[in-house]
Amino acid sequence: MQEIMGTHYKTGESIKVIVNKGIITDICTVPDESEYEDQWLIAPGLVDLQMNGCMGIDLNVFPIDSERVHSIVREVWKEGVTTFFPTITTNSDANIWEAMTAIAKACEEDSSTHTTVGGIHLEGPFISPENGPRGAHKLEYVCQPNWNTFERWQDASGGRIRIVTLSPEWPNATDFIRRCSESGIIVAIGHTAASPEQIRDAVSAGARMATHFGNGAHLTLPRHPNYLWEQLAQDSLWVSLIADGFHLPESFLKVVMQVKQECAILVSDAVHLSGMPPGKYFSHNRVHVVKTNEGRLHLADEPQLLAGSAQMLPWGIAHLTRKKLSSLQEAWEMASVRPSTLMNLPSRSGLQVGGPADLVLFKKERDGGISICETYKQGISRYAIEAQKDMF
Ligand SMILES: [Zn+2]
Repeated sequence: MQEIMGTHYKTGESIKVIVNKGIITDICTVPDESEYEDQWLIAPGLVDLQMNGCMGIDLNVFPIDSERVHSIVREVWKEGVTTFFPTITTNSDANIWEAMTAIAKACEEDSSTHTTVGGIHLEGPFISPENGPRGAHKLEYVCQPNWNTFERWQDASGGRIRIVTLSPEWPNATDFIRRCSESGIIVAIGHTAASPEQIRDAVSAGARMATHFGNGAHLTLPRHPNYLWEQLAQDSLWVSLIADGFHLPESFLKVVMQVKQECAILVSDAVHLSGMPPGKYFSHNRVHVVKTNEGRLHLADEPQLLAGSAQMLPWGIAHLTRKKLSSLQEAWEMASVRPSTLMNLPSRSGLQVGGPADLVLFKKERDGGISICETYKQGISRYAIEAQKDMF
């Protein structure tokens, strides 16, 4: 039995959360005895459905071993993330198989890795071959959906692939989407040049999400109809958004959030340079990139082109609140309870009795930034800043 104190992120009340065997067994309101001006807020742990790496560690560099997966798990806790979906992008058959094997091995080796990895997100290789929608995915490995190949990867992962991002423009996409849906896999539309009709067929076959909506698209589109309007108009389709301040303009975020309401979620889509200081680096595929003082990551030779996101979920939450696109509470839920709901994870109940004690203590800084103080996974403190440790 343990007690975790903080200010409820929704109600603003001082609360004491009682945890037993990793489950929240009680939440009581306590008199506000805090002598500190800034008492820590307490909220559900963050859930990232799309993360390629951080702190110089990349899941899409080969060869890959299980140790790299463990390292990333330890880093995401520092960002308040209690569940994430390691994201493997378009690559050769052998490399995707190797990545799946490494993640499966990591989950079998360590129970904290096992519980923090919610599943694997396979982004590609069944995406659009067209320039623009394909983004930075390598053309040579892009191919049409193939169930037999996918099953081998799924076997290598120990059944952990839970999200597949694909383009429904392939002739056999509908059949593949149906098979995935029947297996309990969330199919996400992304990196697509599909026609509106193909988008509708994909949703009818069971597609549930639009991956990093508004990115991985042509620079210019017919005003209407086009695949963006069609996905926006599909009521049952959830959308994930990269709100790092560079990938999407505020007007776009505002409209999508208003249309999609509870079905709009945040992802980081972070690459290995998230958490690293500004400077010149290599991308995972050995291209020169620059991380600016503002946190924007672009190609060194073509500064107008982004080279992925270099920010984690707390940054996106801060961006939405700084720009007054949402309340702190809503932005936090876009990155915690909502993705858990889509993936049907136990953490979908949020800060409630009976739910897992996947909890974060954090503070909103004067500049609007989010500081993580402590991260609990199933009631076990997995990360705490020094000041927090001193309190015990
Ligand atoms: Zn992508």
